[in-house]
Amino acid sequence: MWFVKRCRAAWEWLSSHWGYDLRVVDLAGEEIPAAIPSKKLICMLDEGEPWVAAMACPCGCGDVIELMLLEGAKPRWDLIVDRGLPTLTPSVWRNVGCRSHFWVKRGHIHWVRAAR
Ligand SMILES: [Zn+2]
Repeated sequence: MWFVKRCRAAWEWLSSHWGYDLRVVDLAGEEIPAAIPSKKLICMLDEGEPWVAAMACPCGCGDVIELMLLEGAKPRWDLIVDRGLPTLTPSVWRNVGCRSHFWVKRGHIHWVRAAR
């Protein structure tokens, strides 16, 4: 899988030079858009309260990743927004599809490499 590794290395190099991988866009409503622009983390608001975040999978597989933000949801994530740049805790680890595992910190994607 050298090709994937190269792509990721290139992506990380580029993103570190472009400044950010993800910016937060607030959106009111109950419907997550079917298509999410790259480099955007959609934060869905219900009566002003964020309840779910959604983003296009950064690996490029085209899937939309939904991250519940509501208290009591399982699993759920903490979303901290600093000058429009998101930080998510814990990491995002997809158990379907591409199985991407990454952290979002201050608008940057940090890939977690499989320990093999
Ligand atoms: Zn993916």
